[in-house]
Amino acid sequence: MSAEAAPGVEPAEAEPGAAAGPGQQQAVLLAEMVEDAAVWCALHGLVVGDRADPRSGTVPGVGLVHAPFSLLPSRFPTSFWKQACELAPIFNELVDRVSLDGEFLQAALSRQVLNYILTTYRFSNFRTKQVDEFTARLLEIHEKMMAINKKEAIRLGLHRSDYMLDSETNSLLQIELNTISSSFPGLGSLVSELHRTLLNQYGKVLGLDSKRIPRNWAATQFAEALGKAWAEYNNDSAVVLMVVQPEERNMYDQYWLANHLKESYGVTTVRKTLAQVEAEGQVLTDGTLVIDGRTVAVVYFRAGYAPTDYPSEAEWKARLLMEQSSAVKCPSISYHLVGTKKIQQELAKPNVLERFLDSKEDIAKLRKSFAGLWSLDNEEIVKSAIEKPDLFVLKPQREGGGNNIYGHDVRDTLIKLQKEQGESLAAYILMQRIFPNASLTPLVRGGDCFEDLTISELGIYGAYLRNKDKVILNNQCGYLMRTKVSSSNEGGVAAGFAVLDSVLLT
Ligand code: ADP
Ligand code: MG
Ligand code: MG
Repeated sequence: MSAEAAPGVEPAEAEPGAAAGPGQQQAVLLAEMVEDAAVWCALHGLVVGDRADPRSGTVPGVGLVHAPFSLLPSRFPTSFWKQACELAPIFNELVDRVSLDGEFLQAALSRQVLNYILTTYRFSNFRTKQVDEFTARLLEIHEKMMAINKKEAIRLGLHRSDYMLDSETNSLLQIELNTISSSFPGLGSLVSELHRTLLNQYGKVLGLDSKRIPRNWAATQFAEALGKAWAEYNNDSAVVLMVVQPEERNMYDQYWLANHLKESYGVTTVRKTLAQVEAEGQVLTDGTLVIDGRTVAVVYFRAGYAPTDYPSEAEWKARLLMEQSSAVKCPSISYHLVGTKKIQQELAKPNVLERFLDSKEDIAKLRKSFAGLWSLDNEEIVKSAIEKPDLFVLKPQREGGGNNIYGHDVRDTLIKLQKEQGESLAAYILMQRIFPNASLTPLVRGGDCFEDLTISELGIYGAYLRNKDKVILNNQCGYLMRTKVSSSNEGGVAAGFAVLDSVLLT
């Protein structure tokens, strides 16, 4: 990278008579920092599986590479930071309240089921792909639980609410609320430590103070929530079941939680895929979930959020089996559905938050963070989006990045959907596009540093645990900054466009 353009790096004064100029000195400083940072990652487990090694997603300890990171923390105004942190417990409570209203969830999401059924029976098979079969299957499980009047006494939520700073309105706006498989609590906390370490050493030269990086305890606090949920279940020999994908290059993020759970609470974590749960798991007549002969106290999902996680009926059977059990589910099917984009859009409608929350102040705080959200039966908005597609993002009911539609594709897709007579429209929502300010940032990936124009997304973790009427935890717990090349629309960390980052309060 060119050292000149690095933000926060002031040209060091050339010593009289020294051969190296300021530019060169800077380059030397940056190279030193990159090396120190990469070594720190290796020594502290800030690592992911390396794409280049075919075994890195299945065999722990093989083919490790440092997680991609930003060399310096991203500047973030303290007032917006406080605002985002304050929202966490309110969103936690909202998720819990909404999860109890099964009819609301069914009504909001059932148009997709209806479309699915209509399409399945009226048209040839290939058309089913156009509607949202995945959400329909989740909803089917939810419906079954409603039919048997299943109640979850112990409810655990490990959420991450994501925000961007909109430069047009100078406001903090929510991108989405994740209620399943919120990733990077483990590695995210480490990036904050990495940046603190770097600034402790280089902060003076850079003019940056490490104390301005907020402490980040996401990993230990998520482990605490899992540990406390395990304790509520009240069976000393029970385990935590972590449901994982068969191949997972982000496994170390997950192992960090298992590690804290073991060290701080003496709780064992068992990792299983959905297929393994189907093959090896059973629910006893009293509701106990047993796997490998061990009772499961808590099921923690780090898989099951995407259609590709259910390649056959076996995986769906596993999901239903776990839902039917008395184990604490993180998330339960209801919590999972509350995190869908469709529900996000429904909650943003006038007078809907009021149905779930009592405090006017809390409602006002949440609403302030809502961007424009619309369903596609709003013809006026669809027309505007066709006219000005750059001002909108078109979102299907999906998780995990890489699914949204931007720019010209918004127009093309909307026109195509309209031609299909509105049949598939309910599978999407429209969202106001948020435009954060871009800045030049040095990013480190695979040991190489390069500089690019980037924008950042702040994720605030929240943990919620209750047992019947007793709220045991309702906390904000740490954060995750993700910084991506501004030319990339989505840019997941795993996809290779975004890097892990932390916050420098300004
Ligand atoms: P997912 O559940 O797949 O992560 P998101 O809603 O978070 O779905 O969208 C994925 C990414 O797309 C976000 O991380 C963000 O970079 C970008 N994005 C989503 N919504 C918007 C928006 N309204 N404006 C600008 N970018 C957005
Ligand atoms: Mg998501
Ligand atoms: Mg997201």
